[in-house]
Amino acid sequence: MAEIRLQNLAHSYSKTPGGPEDYAIREMTHIWNQGGAYALLGPSGCGKSTLLNIISGLLSPSEGQVLFDGKRVNDLTPEKRNIAQVFQFPVVYDTMTVFDNLAFPLRNQGVDEARVKIKVNEIAEVLDLQELLKKKASNLTADEKQKVSMGRGLVRDDVSAILFDEPLTVIDPHLKWKLRRKLKQIHEQFNITMVYVTHDQLEASTFADKIAVMYGGQIVQFGTPRELFEKPLHTFVGYFIGSPGMNLIDVKPEVGGVGFGDVHLALPQAMLDTLAATQWKTLKVGIRPEFVHVWDGPFEEAMCADVTYVEDLGTYKILTLDLAGQKLKVRLQEDKPVPEGKAWISFPGQWLMLYADDFLLEPGHE
Ligand code: ADP
Ligand code: MG
Repeated sequence: MAEIRLQNLAHSYSKTPGGPEDYAIREMTHIWNQGGAYALLGPSGCGKSTLLNIISGLLSPSEGQVLFDGKRVNDLTPEKRNIAQVFQFPVVYDTMTVFDNLAFPLRNQGVDEARVKIKVNEIAEVLDLQELLKKKASNLTADEKQKVSMGRGLVRDDVSAILFDEPLTVIDPHLKWKLRRKLKQIHEQFNITMVYVTHDQLEASTFADKIAVMYGGQIVQFGTPRELFEKPLHTFVGYFIGSPGMNLIDVKPEVGGVGFGDVHLALPQAMLDTLAATQWKTLKVGIRPEFVHVWDGPFEEAMCADVTYVEDLGTYKILTLDLAGQKLKVRLQEDKPVPEGKAWISFPGQWLMLYADDFLLEPGHE
Protein backbone atom coordinates (compact mmCIF):
# COMPACT_ATOMS: atom_id res chain seq x y z
CA MET A 1 0.00 0.00 0.00
CA ALA A 2 1.32 3.37 -0.86
CA GLU A 3 0.90 7.09 -1.12
CA ILE A 4 1.03 7.93 -4.82
CA ARG A 5 2.55 11.26 -5.74
CA LEU A 6 2.51 12.71 -9.25
CA GLN A 7 5.24 15.34 -9.35
CA ASN A 8 5.22 17.94 -12.16
CA LEU A 9 3.74 15.27 -14.35
CA ALA A 10 2.86 15.90 -17.98
CA HIS A 11 2.30 13.66 -20.95
CA SER A 12 2.18 14.15 -24.68
CA TYR A 13 1.58 11.31 -27.13
CA SER A 14 3.51 13.39 -29.65
CA LYS A 15 7.31 13.06 -29.74
CA THR A 16 7.60 16.73 -30.65
CA PRO A 17 4.84 18.57 -28.77
CA GLY A 18 4.35 22.20 -29.77
CA GLY A 19 1.98 23.98 -27.37
CA PRO A 20 -0.14 22.88 -24.39
CA GLU A 21 -2.79 21.55 -26.80
CA ASP A 22 -0.41 18.69 -27.70
CA TYR A 23 -0.52 17.42 -24.11
CA ALA A 24 -3.03 14.75 -22.99
CA ILE A 25 -1.90 15.53 -19.42
CA ARG A 26 -0.94 19.14 -18.67
CA GLU A 27 1.60 19.72 -15.96
CA MET A 28 0.20 18.69 -12.59
CA THR A 29 1.31 17.81 -9.08
CA HIS A 30 -1.16 15.62 -7.25
CA ILE A 31 -1.18 13.27 -4.27
CA TRP A 32 -3.38 10.23 -3.73
CA ASN A 33 -3.11 9.41 -0.03
CA GLN A 34 -2.57 5.86 1.17
CA GLY A 35 -5.90 4.14 1.78
CA GLY A 36 -8.16 6.68 0.10
CA ALA A 37 -11.19 5.86 -2.06
CA TYR A 38 -10.90 8.24 -4.98
CA ALA A 39 -12.75 8.90 -8.20
CA LEU A 40 -11.27 10.48 -11.28
CA LEU A 41 -14.23 12.10 -13.01
CA GLY A 42 -14.37 13.83 -16.37
CA PRO A 43 -15.77 13.68 -19.90
CA SER A 44 -14.51 11.35 -22.60
CA GLY A 45 -11.11 12.37 -23.94
CA CYS A 46 -10.04 14.52 -20.96
CA GLY A 47 -7.08 12.25 -20.11
CA LYS A 48 -8.43 9.88 -17.44
CA SER A 49 -7.10 6.64 -18.95
CA THR A 50 -3.80 8.30 -19.80
CA LEU A 51 -3.36 9.35 -16.17
CA LEU A 52 -4.35 5.92 -14.85
CA ASN A 53 -1.95 4.15 -17.21
CA ILE A 54 0.86 6.45 -16.07
CA ILE A 55 0.14 5.56 -12.43
CA SER A 56 0.07 1.84 -13.16
CA GLY A 57 3.16 1.87 -15.38
CA LEU A 58 1.55 0.85 -18.68
CA LEU A 59 2.61 4.26 -19.96
CA SER A 60 5.78 6.20 -19.25
CA PRO A 61 5.14 9.96 -18.76
CA SER A 62 7.01 12.32 -21.06
CA GLU A 63 7.71 14.70 -18.16
CA GLY A 64 7.78 14.55 -14.36
CA GLN A 65 7.83 11.78 -11.84
CA VAL A 66 5.59 9.13 -10.32
CA LEU A 67 6.51 8.48 -6.68
CA PHE A 68 5.21 5.65 -4.48
CA ASP A 69 5.90 6.47 -0.82
CA GLY A 70 8.48 8.96 -2.02
CA LYS A 71 10.31 6.48 -4.26
CA ARG A 72 10.55 7.14 -7.99
CA VAL A 73 8.83 4.34 -9.93
CA ASN A 74 8.86 5.85 -13.46
CA ASP A 75 10.88 2.96 -14.82
CA LEU A 76 9.10 0.12 -13.00
CA THR A 77 6.60 -2.22 -14.71
CA PRO A 78 3.03 -2.55 -13.32
CA GLU A 79 4.07 -5.86 -11.67
CA LYS A 80 7.03 -4.22 -9.95
CA ARG A 81 4.81 -1.36 -8.81
CA ASN A 82 2.48 -3.97 -7.36
CA ILE A 83 -0.59 -2.36 -8.91
CA ALA A 84 -3.83 -4.08 -9.87
CA GLN A 85 -5.79 -2.52 -12.73
CA VAL A 86 -9.29 -3.29 -13.95
CA PHE A 87 -10.18 -2.11 -17.44
CA GLN A 88 -13.36 -1.07 -19.20
CA PHE A 89 -13.56 -4.36 -21.06
CA PRO A 90 -12.93 -7.79 -19.51
CA VAL A 91 -9.43 -9.23 -19.49
CA VAL A 92 -9.80 -12.94 -18.74
CA TYR A 93 -8.09 -16.13 -19.83
CA ASP A 94 -10.82 -17.83 -21.88
CA THR A 95 -9.36 -21.32 -21.64
CA MET A 96 -9.13 -21.23 -17.84
CA THR A 97 -11.94 -21.80 -15.38
CA VAL A 98 -13.31 -18.90 -13.36
CA PHE A 99 -11.51 -20.31 -10.31
CA ASP A 100 -8.16 -20.41 -12.10
CA ASN A 101 -8.68 -16.90 -13.47
CA LEU A 102 -9.30 -15.55 -9.97
CA ALA A 103 -6.41 -17.60 -8.56
CA PHE A 104 -3.97 -16.38 -11.22
CA PRO A 105 -2.72 -13.18 -9.51
CA LEU A 106 -2.26 -15.09 -6.23
CA ARG A 107 -0.44 -18.07 -7.76
CA ASN A 108 1.76 -15.57 -9.59
CA GLN A 109 2.84 -14.26 -6.19
CA GLY A 110 3.57 -17.80 -4.94
CA VAL A 111 0.66 -17.85 -2.49
CA ASP A 112 0.09 -21.40 -1.16
CA GLU A 113 -2.92 -23.32 -2.49
CA ALA A 114 -4.78 -23.43 0.82
CA ARG A 115 -4.77 -19.64 0.98
CA VAL A 116 -5.55 -19.36 -2.76
CA LYS A 117 -8.70 -21.36 -2.12
CA ILE A 118 -9.76 -19.17 0.78
CA LYS A 119 -9.16 -15.91 -1.08
CA VAL A 120 -10.79 -17.06 -4.33
CA ASN A 121 -13.88 -18.20 -2.46
CA GLU A 122 -14.00 -14.96 -0.54
CA ILE A 123 -13.89 -12.82 -3.67
CA ALA A 124 -16.29 -15.15 -5.53
CA GLU A 125 -18.79 -14.64 -2.75
CA VAL A 126 -18.45 -10.86 -2.85
CA LEU A 127 -19.04 -10.82 -6.61
CA ASP A 128 -21.66 -13.62 -6.71
CA LEU A 129 -19.45 -15.91 -8.76
CA GLN A 130 -19.58 -19.06 -6.55
CA GLU A 131 -21.85 -20.96 -8.96
CA LEU A 132 -19.52 -20.24 -11.85
CA LEU A 133 -16.15 -21.20 -10.35
CA LYS A 134 -15.85 -24.43 -12.35
CA LYS A 135 -17.00 -22.92 -15.65
CA LYS A 136 -14.61 -22.07 -18.47
CA ALA A 137 -14.36 -18.31 -18.84
CA SER A 138 -15.16 -18.63 -22.56
CA ASN A 139 -18.71 -19.74 -21.62
CA LEU A 140 -19.52 -16.63 -19.61
CA THR A 141 -21.68 -13.65 -20.53
CA ALA A 142 -20.06 -10.20 -20.91
CA ASP A 143 -21.31 -9.22 -17.42
CA GLU A 144 -19.89 -12.34 -15.85
CA LYS A 145 -16.56 -11.91 -17.61
CA GLN A 146 -16.25 -8.37 -16.31
CA LYS A 147 -17.02 -9.56 -12.79
CA VAL A 148 -14.21 -12.10 -13.12
CA SER A 149 -11.98 -9.33 -14.42
CA MET A 150 -12.83 -7.22 -11.38
CA GLY A 151 -12.29 -10.21 -9.12
CA ARG A 152 -8.77 -10.63 -10.50
CA GLY A 153 -8.11 -7.00 -9.60
CA LEU A 154 -9.52 -7.38 -6.11
CA VAL A 155 -8.24 -10.81 -5.08
CA ARG A 156 -4.90 -9.65 -3.67
CA ASP A 157 -5.03 -7.53 -0.54
CA ASP A 158 -1.30 -6.74 -0.57
CA VAL A 159 -1.23 -4.46 -3.62
CA SER A 160 -0.09 -0.81 -3.54
CA ALA A 161 -3.30 0.35 -5.16
CA ILE A 162 -6.19 -0.84 -7.30
CA LEU A 163 -7.07 1.24 -10.35
CA PHE A 164 -10.42 0.92 -12.09
CA ASP A 165 -10.93 2.35 -15.57
CA GLU A 166 -14.70 2.69 -16.10
CA PRO A 167 -15.13 -0.95 -14.98
CA LEU A 168 -18.92 -0.99 -15.01
CA THR A 169 -19.44 0.17 -18.61
CA VAL A 170 -20.45 -3.28 -19.87
CA ILE A 171 -22.35 -4.21 -16.70
CA ASP A 172 -26.13 -4.36 -16.60
CA PRO A 173 -27.61 -1.22 -14.90
CA HIS A 174 -29.23 -3.10 -11.99
CA LEU A 175 -25.95 -4.86 -11.23
CA LYS A 176 -23.96 -1.63 -11.38
CA TRP A 177 -25.36 -0.26 -8.18
CA LYS A 178 -24.69 -3.50 -6.34
CA LEU A 179 -21.11 -3.75 -7.57
CA ARG A 180 -20.38 -0.17 -6.59
CA ARG A 181 -21.54 -0.93 -3.05
CA LYS A 182 -19.33 -4.04 -3.05
CA LEU A 183 -16.30 -2.06 -4.11
CA LYS A 184 -16.93 0.38 -1.31
CA GLN A 185 -17.21 -2.51 1.18
CA ILE A 186 -13.98 -4.02 -0.07
CA HIS A 187 -12.31 -0.66 0.32
CA GLU A 188 -13.54 -0.32 3.88
CA GLN A 189 -12.40 -3.85 4.70
CA PHE A 190 -8.87 -3.71 3.28
CA ASN A 191 -8.10 0.01 3.24
CA ILE A 192 -6.30 -0.20 -0.10
CA THR A 193 -5.81 2.98 -2.13
CA MET A 194 -8.38 2.86 -4.93
CA VAL A 195 -8.72 5.18 -7.90
CA TYR A 196 -11.95 4.75 -9.82
CA VAL A 197 -12.28 6.37 -13.24
CA THR A 198 -15.72 7.33 -14.49
CA HIS A 199 -17.57 9.96 -16.52
CA ASP A 200 -20.65 9.54 -14.31
CA GLN A 201 -20.96 11.92 -11.34
CA LEU A 202 -23.36 9.62 -9.49
CA GLU A 203 -20.95 6.71 -9.80
CA ALA A 204 -18.11 8.92 -8.59
CA SER A 205 -19.92 10.25 -5.55
CA THR A 206 -21.30 6.88 -4.41
CA PHE A 207 -17.86 5.30 -4.53
CA ALA A 208 -15.42 8.00 -3.56
CA ASP A 209 -14.64 10.05 -0.47
CA LYS A 210 -12.83 12.52 -2.68
CA ILE A 211 -13.25 13.23 -6.38
CA ALA A 212 -10.66 14.61 -8.79
CA VAL A 213 -12.48 16.40 -11.59
CA MET A 214 -10.51 16.33 -14.80
CA TYR A 215 -10.94 18.64 -17.76
CA GLY A 216 -8.65 19.17 -20.74
CA GLY A 217 -5.76 17.19 -19.25
CA GLN A 218 -5.88 18.99 -15.90
CA ILE A 219 -7.31 18.16 -12.49
CA VAL A 220 -9.39 21.31 -12.02
CA GLN A 221 -10.63 20.39 -8.54
CA PHE A 222 -9.97 17.70 -5.95
CA GLY A 223 -12.57 17.63 -3.21
CA THR A 224 -15.47 15.90 -1.48
CA PRO A 225 -18.75 15.65 -3.41
CA ARG A 226 -20.04 18.42 -1.15
CA GLU A 227 -17.11 20.73 -1.86
CA LEU A 228 -17.56 20.22 -5.60
CA PHE A 229 -21.20 21.08 -5.24
CA GLU A 230 -20.94 24.05 -2.91
CA LYS A 231 -17.77 25.66 -4.14
CA PRO A 232 -16.75 24.73 -7.70
CA LEU A 233 -13.23 26.05 -8.25
CA HIS A 234 -13.69 25.99 -12.03
CA THR A 235 -16.72 26.70 -14.23
CA PHE A 236 -16.38 23.18 -15.67
CA VAL A 237 -16.96 21.67 -12.20
CA GLY A 238 -20.00 23.90 -11.79
CA TYR A 239 -21.36 22.83 -15.15
CA PHE A 240 -20.47 19.11 -14.95
CA ILE A 241 -21.55 18.41 -11.35
CA GLY A 242 -25.21 18.82 -10.46
CA SER A 243 -28.36 18.30 -12.45
CA PRO A 244 -28.91 20.68 -14.05
CA GLY A 245 -25.46 22.21 -13.67
CA MET A 246 -24.54 25.63 -12.38
CA ASN A 247 -25.95 28.76 -14.08
CA LEU A 248 -23.02 30.64 -15.61
CA ILE A 249 -23.53 34.17 -16.88
CA ASP A 250 -21.05 36.49 -18.62
CA VAL A 251 -20.78 39.74 -16.69
CA LYS A 252 -19.00 43.09 -16.88
CA PRO A 253 -17.40 44.89 -13.96
CA GLU A 254 -19.47 47.80 -12.62
CA VAL A 255 -19.06 50.20 -9.74
CA GLY A 256 -19.59 48.17 -6.54
CA GLY A 257 -20.11 44.87 -8.32
CA VAL A 258 -20.72 43.23 -11.69
CA GLY A 259 -23.62 43.26 -14.10
CA PHE A 260 -25.31 41.99 -17.24
CA GLY A 261 -28.18 43.63 -19.14
CA ASP A 262 -29.95 45.88 -16.63
CA VAL A 263 -29.03 43.59 -13.73
CA HIS A 264 -26.49 44.77 -11.17
CA LEU A 265 -25.04 42.32 -8.67
CA ALA A 266 -23.33 43.91 -5.67
CA LEU A 267 -20.15 42.25 -4.45
CA PRO A 268 -18.32 42.56 -1.12
CA GLN A 269 -15.38 44.99 -1.09
CA ALA A 270 -12.83 42.18 -0.53
CA MET A 271 -14.05 40.53 -3.74
CA LEU A 272 -13.89 43.81 -5.65
CA ASP A 273 -10.29 44.28 -4.46
CA THR A 274 -9.36 40.79 -5.64
CA LEU A 275 -11.04 41.40 -8.99
CA ALA A 276 -9.22 44.70 -9.44
CA ALA A 277 -5.88 42.96 -8.82
CA THR A 278 -6.57 40.13 -11.29
CA GLN A 279 -5.88 39.97 -15.03
CA TRP A 280 -8.64 38.26 -16.97
CA LYS A 281 -10.20 37.89 -20.42
CA THR A 282 -13.61 36.47 -19.44
CA LEU A 283 -15.65 37.15 -16.34
CA LYS A 284 -18.63 35.04 -15.25
CA VAL A 285 -20.87 34.69 -12.25
CA GLY A 286 -22.08 31.25 -11.26
CA ILE A 287 -24.99 30.17 -9.08
CA ARG A 288 -26.46 26.71 -8.69
CA PRO A 289 -30.18 26.19 -9.51
CA GLU A 290 -30.62 24.96 -5.92
CA PHE A 291 -29.32 28.22 -4.44
CA VAL A 292 -31.37 30.79 -6.36
CA HIS A 293 -33.87 32.20 -3.90
CA VAL A 294 -37.43 32.46 -5.19
CA TRP A 295 -39.68 34.90 -3.33
CA ASP A 296 -43.35 34.01 -2.85
CA GLY A 297 -44.44 37.22 -4.61
CA PRO A 298 -43.25 40.63 -5.80
CA PHE A 299 -40.45 41.90 -3.60
CA GLU A 300 -38.76 45.24 -3.95
CA GLU A 301 -35.19 44.09 -3.50
CA ALA A 302 -35.58 41.06 -5.76
CA MET A 303 -34.90 40.76 -9.49
CA CYS A 304 -37.85 40.08 -11.74
CA ALA A 305 -37.50 37.28 -14.30
CA ASP A 306 -39.87 35.77 -16.88
CA VAL A 307 -40.87 32.15 -16.33
CA THR A 308 -40.44 30.40 -19.67
CA TYR A 309 -40.83 26.75 -18.66
CA VAL A 310 -41.75 24.64 -15.62
CA GLU A 311 -40.62 21.03 -15.44
CA ASP A 312 -42.24 18.94 -12.71
CA LEU A 313 -39.91 16.22 -11.45
CA GLY A 314 -42.08 14.96 -8.59
CA THR A 315 -40.36 16.06 -5.42
CA TYR A 316 -39.15 19.31 -7.01
CA LYS A 317 -39.59 21.46 -10.08
CA ILE A 318 -37.06 22.98 -12.43
CA LEU A 319 -37.99 26.45 -13.59
CA THR A 320 -36.45 27.96 -16.68
CA LEU A 321 -36.32 31.72 -16.35
CA ASP A 322 -35.28 34.60 -18.53
CA LEU A 323 -33.45 37.26 -16.55
CA ALA A 324 -32.42 40.28 -18.63
CA GLY A 325 -32.02 38.04 -21.67
CA GLN A 326 -30.09 35.33 -19.79
CA LYS A 327 -31.47 31.82 -19.42
CA LEU A 328 -31.49 30.63 -15.83
CA LYS A 329 -32.40 27.28 -14.24
CA VAL A 330 -33.90 27.27 -10.77
CA ARG A 331 -34.74 24.32 -8.57
CA LEU A 332 -37.94 24.82 -6.64
CA GLN A 333 -38.88 22.57 -3.68
CA GLU A 334 -42.31 20.92 -3.92
CA ASP A 335 -43.80 22.89 -1.02
CA LYS A 336 -43.07 26.24 -2.71
CA PRO A 337 -45.70 28.03 -4.81
CA VAL A 338 -44.91 27.93 -8.51
CA PRO A 339 -44.55 31.46 -9.88
CA GLU A 340 -46.69 32.19 -12.90
CA GLY A 341 -45.50 34.51 -15.66
CA LYS A 342 -42.99 36.36 -13.49
CA ALA A 343 -40.67 35.22 -10.72
CA TRP A 344 -38.99 37.40 -8.08
CA ILE A 345 -35.58 35.99 -7.36
CA SER A 346 -32.33 36.84 -5.64
CA PHE A 347 -28.85 35.37 -5.50
CA PRO A 348 -27.72 34.88 -1.88
CA GLY A 349 -24.20 36.33 -1.59
CA GLN A 350 -22.88 33.14 -0.02
CA TRP A 351 -23.72 31.16 -3.17
CA LEU A 352 -22.81 33.66 -5.85
CA MET A 353 -19.42 32.72 -7.33
CA LEU A 354 -17.24 34.88 -9.54
CA TYR A 355 -15.03 33.27 -12.20
CA ALA A 356 -12.16 35.00 -13.99
CA ASP A 357 -11.04 33.00 -17.05
CA ASP A 358 -13.11 30.13 -15.63
CA PHE A 359 -11.27 29.89 -12.28
CA LEU A 360 -13.00 30.90 -9.05
CA LEU A 361 -11.95 34.24 -7.62
CA GLU A 362 -11.58 34.13 -3.89
CA PRO A 363 -11.01 37.20 -1.74
CA GLY A 364 -7.52 37.17 -0.33
CA HIS A 365 -6.18 34.87 -3.09
CA GLU A 366 -4.76 37.47 -5.44
P1 ADP B 1 -10.30 9.49 -21.38
O1 ADP B 1 -9.88 8.20 -20.76
O2 ADP B 1 -10.60 10.56 -20.38
O3 ADP B 1 -11.44 9.33 -22.34
P2 ADP B 1 -7.76 9.40 -22.78
O4 ADP B 1 -6.71 9.41 -21.72
O5 ADP B 1 -8.07 8.09 -23.40
O6 ADP B 1 -9.09 10.10 -22.23
O7 ADP B 1 -7.33 10.40 -23.94
C1 ADP B 1 -6.83 11.70 -23.69
C2 ADP B 1 -6.38 12.32 -25.01
O8 ADP B 1 -5.23 11.63 -25.51
C3 ADP B 1 -7.41 12.26 -26.13
O9 ADP B 1 -7.30 13.44 -26.87
C4 ADP B 1 -7.00 11.05 -26.94
O10 ADP B 1 -7.38 11.19 -28.27
C5 ADP B 1 -5.49 11.07 -26.79
N1 ADP B 1 -4.91 9.70 -26.83
C6 ADP B 1 -5.24 8.67 -26.03
N2 ADP B 1 -4.50 7.57 -26.32
C7 ADP B 1 -3.67 7.93 -27.32
C8 ADP B 1 -2.65 7.25 -28.08
N3 ADP B 1 -2.33 5.98 -27.82
N4 ADP B 1 -2.02 7.96 -29.04
C9 ADP B 1 -2.31 9.26 -29.29
N5 ADP B 1 -3.26 9.95 -28.64
C10 ADP B 1 -3.94 9.31 -27.66
MG1 MG C 1 -10.71 6.28 -20.91
